[in-house]
Parts: sequence; structure tokens; C-alpha cells
Amino acid sequence: MPPERIEIRSAEVGDGLYARRALPHRERRMVGAWCFLDHLGPLDFEAGHGLSVGPHPHIGLQTFTWMIDGEVVHRDSLGNEQVIRPGQVNLMSAGRGISHAEDSIEGRSGRLHAVQLWIALDEAHRHGAPSFRNYPDLPVLERDGCRVTLLAGSAFGTTSPVEVFSPLVGMDITAAPGAGIQIPLEAAFEYALLPLAGAVEVDGETFTQEAMAYLGAGRDSATLRSGDATHFVLIGGVPFGEEILLWWNFVARTPEEIQAATDDWNAGRRFGEVHGSPSHPLVAPDVSKLRLRKAPR
Ligand code: MN
Repeated sequence: MPPERIEIRSAEVGDGLYARRALPHRERRMVGAWCFLDHLGPLDFEAGHGLSVGPHPHIGLQTFTWMIDGEVVHRDSLGNEQVIRPGQVNLMSAGRGISHAEDSIEGRSGRLHAVQLWIALDEAHRHGAPSFRNYPDLPVLERDGCRVTLLAGSAFGTTSPVEVFSPLVGMDITAAPGAGIQIPLEAAFEYALLPLAGAVEVDGETFTQEAMAYLGAGRDSATLRSGDATHFVLIGGVPFGEEILLWWNFVARTPEEIQAATDDWNAGRRFGEVHGSPSHPLVAPDVSKLRLRKAPR
């Protein structure tokens, strides 16, 4: 099967800041358990500006932040306050409910380059207690002129320490101009590749920042060639066996669950309190719009 082209759209993530959003897409809602994929930056904020995502709730997912450049402080309702730095992952498991805020830090570099992903939690884990962890060190290996950071799961004989609850993988790969790399794949996983910079050739087709390459399942390996200095992320996983309903910052199964989470957030229940963020709490959108939407696949 030739790779499928998933066009990237632009989405506002707060305060006039736009991300390149690859997931969810109307033709591709998930890749394994990965159900959200935003590429932020690279950009330089002017003095006095920065990332400012005020307190907001999550249920049913893990937020997975991969910091490529810059610094952001995460604060959550469990009392965690954690600066995430380049080369690190912040992982927050929402379970039945948590709230957090993400802000740039006054007086720091003013740079931002990150990938923000969400991982849907399966039925066995989505009602569990919330937790948060920063991973300062991830496995990095050199292969065929490429630098591979293993973000999640296992590949090339190493395993990422990041705790996930379904079979999945995530890699960040930078490639020298003209480099070719063969990546071992799991036949049971479906995969997608999102270029962050440069161009990468997959099965003779070239992909740039404008589109994500969906590779499907059933492959033992992928041979990729870098057109110029290329940077991309590769995500994969066993196709998620449950129908999810993604609305605002919630991953659930039914509109009733989304309604209950929205009501709890608006009433100040369930999600605790985030202290110390300079940003205003986010207001949940009107859930009645969800009921007008077509049921997800
Ligand atoms: Mn969030």
C-alpha cells in the first residue's frame, strides 16, 4: 500500500499562537492509540509574549509533550510544577480527571519548538488515578547518518522509559542530507510519519511539512531517504480497538461523559485546582455543538 497523504491544518492553541495539526484528521482520527498531534514552532516569542495555555481539564488520555527547543513550565492540580527542557518528555496521565496549565517562562530563551501528542487510554486505564512525570533522559542512537531519539515504546533494541498503556512507539529522527535509513517496524502496528523540517522520501514519494505520511499496518520495515537536512517524527501502534469520542480536552466514549466532564469543570468539581499559572483558566465550549456533530468512526 502506498503511503496515504494526510494534509496538515493550522489550529489556534491560544493567544494567537498557531500549531500545525496532523491529528485528528477527518480521514485519519488515530494512529494506534495516538489521537492528537500538534507541531508547535519553531518560533521566537517577542519579549513579554509566550505560550500561555491557562488551567484546563483532561480526561481519558495521556498528554505527551516532546520539547525540541525552548522551555515551558507545566503546573497541575496534583501540585506538580515542572519545567520541561529540550530533549525531554512531559507525560501526564489524566485518567478520570486532572487539570494543568502550560506557560512560557519570563526571562528565558523565548524560543518554542515542541510536539504535543495525546495518547487515548483504553477502558482498563481511563478511569484510573491521574499522574504526572517528567522524563529528562531518553535513549538516543545513531544509525546510517541519522539521529534517533526513542520517545516511547521500543525500537532498534532499546526501550523508552516513558510509561504507556498500549503497544505503541514514537521516534524523533534527524537525518543528514541524502541519508537513508531502514527503520524496523512491527507488522501489527500502523504507522505515520510527520516531517517537521525538510523533505523525506517514503516508497519513492516525497513528504514535506504540508502532509503526514500514513503508512498503514503490515510492514516489517520502512526505508526512508532524506532529501535535505530532515527532521521528522514517526508514530505507530496497534490500531486502537475502542471507539473514542474526542471533544475539546476530553477523550471519552459517549456525549453524556463529555457533558458530565464539562459540567464538572464549569462547576469547579473533579479537576482540582492549578496554582501559580499567570494565565486565565480556559472556558469549556458549548457541548450542544457536539450533539450536532456526526458520530465518530
Ligand atoms: Mn492540556
